[in-house]
Amino acid sequence: QHLTSPELRQRFLTYFEKHGHTPVPSSSLIPHQQDKSLLFTNAGMVPFKNYFMNPSSAPYPCATSVQKCMRAGGKHNDLDNVGYTPRHHTFFEMLGNFSFGKYSKEEAIRYAWQFLLKELELPVSRLRVTVLEGDQEGYDLWKKQGLSDDKIVSCGPEDNFWSMGDGEGPCGPCTEIFWDTMDDSLGEDRWLEIWNLVFMENYRTPDGQLTRLPTPCIDTGMGLERMACVLQEKQNNFQIDQFRDLISGLRQWMAQNNLKNYTSTDPNPHEKIIADHFRSMCFLIGDGVVPSNVGRGYVLRRIIRRALRSARQLGIHQPFLNELYPYLLRGFTDGNYPELAERSASIRNIIDNEESTFLATLDRGMTLLENVFTRSDLQHTKTIPPSVAFQLYDTFGFPFDLTLIIAQERGWTVDISAVEKLQEQQKQMGRDSWKSDGNGGQSALSEWRQNNVFPQFTGYDHELFHQESA
Ligand code: ATP
Ligand code: MG
Ligand code: MG
Ligand code: MG
Repeated sequence: QHLTSPELRQRFLTYFEKHGHTPVPSSSLIPHQQDKSLLFTNAGMVPFKNYFMNPSSAPYPCATSVQKCMRAGGKHNDLDNVGYTPRHHTFFEMLGNFSFGKYSKEEAIRYAWQFLLKELELPVSRLRVTVLEGDQEGYDLWKKQGLSDDKIVSCGPEDNFWSMGDGEGPCGPCTEIFWDTMDDSLGEDRWLEIWNLVFMENYRTPDGQLTRLPTPCIDTGMGLERMACVLQEKQNNFQIDQFRDLISGLRQWMAQNNLKNYTSTDPNPHEKIIADHFRSMCFLIGDGVVPSNVGRGYVLRRIIRRALRSARQLGIHQPFLNELYPYLLRGFTDGNYPELAERSASIRNIIDNEESTFLATLDRGMTLLENVFTRSDLQHTKTIPPSVAFQLYDTFGFPFDLTLIIAQERGWTVDISAVEKLQEQQKQMGRDSWKSDGNGGQSALSEWRQNNVFPQFTGYDHELFHQESA
């Protein structure tokens, strides 16, 4: 059945409401103040976390929601996947149903299965499930639904034991439902995970012990974009309705500005990254995050800069992000996220400021680099002096990986270990300016080195992240 994203949202909520679940609006991407264990809401269960631990405190026995999620840090970090897998975003929506002691495994499996087969009319032949090794009950319950042995695969705890983070919290065995894309060329990606049903039975204590929750609960999560991709018969998430609008907006703007006109059905990775990161920045700012050099604001800043770096790879050198805003809104016309319209002025303002600041940084750095490229004394080695590369990064805040990319484009080289030595020397001189430079801190250079010339986003190993992420 072909459904648009808004239709899918509605269909899901209506189905579970019909089966006794209370619909609960999405909560913020910033977890509740008391929850220090998480950087961002990374699953539908996060706002309900306490109810799993104490079901009698829940205002309803079961709930259903479409929750804004962000996976760009902590245990579930998909930032590096974006643009390169068919199915990962930083910001995405998770459809979920939850039971706080009201029903358990059997009903959870039955609800999900019926929704897929009866409501969405997916053919059984294209579905598979996984269960946790040793979970005989889960296995038998799937058999009871009519699945044959060859369609039930047992997996280890890496895949089938779910927890929100690495620290304290509710967790448990899970069963994952996969869609067969039937495309062998995709390798492992032939199988698309669409829905995860977690049997919340355990609690990990602060010292890492697994205990049993007093009452078993249910937590499920289905990616809206992935299911839309299946229903709309697309090759990957970036071809569904919401992204089509956004990417066509980008392409129109590029055409109007006499830049290369992309027309491929499958957007290129940079187009995907820009679209993905644009959604993330708008929703993050909409929930009150502002760019900064620490914690959540730092993730936001890096996301904006990463989008601008991808834009540069497409040949975009001027401000453009805000041109995409109307196209983003088009994907969310059902009023599910009123903040997008209500806070549009401040969202756009903050993006504008951050973008122009960064572009100015880039311009200054480019001028410096251009001087290097024309220096006659360097023409025979074509190597950027380490002192300049270091100054660009340290004093001007010019991203070091960009220096590497630009050098490579021009056929120049950079002696990375020499730059690292300068960094080391400076540290020994006690002038530790690395902590607050917003460029990933002390480990950034060595990480870039490991990651080669075009590194993906780094910086999560920075101490700032250990304070807040799980
Ligand atoms: P994967 O193995 O594909 O990375 P996951 O097992 O990490 O997915 P879960 O933590 O089980 O994902 O989240 C529940 C559901 O949310 C998934 O089944 C999937 O449909 C969706 N989902 C998870 N991560 C993403 C993401 N980065 N972007 C879009 N949807 C996602
Ligand atoms: Mg994952
Ligand atoms: Mg998985
Ligand atoms: Mg999963």
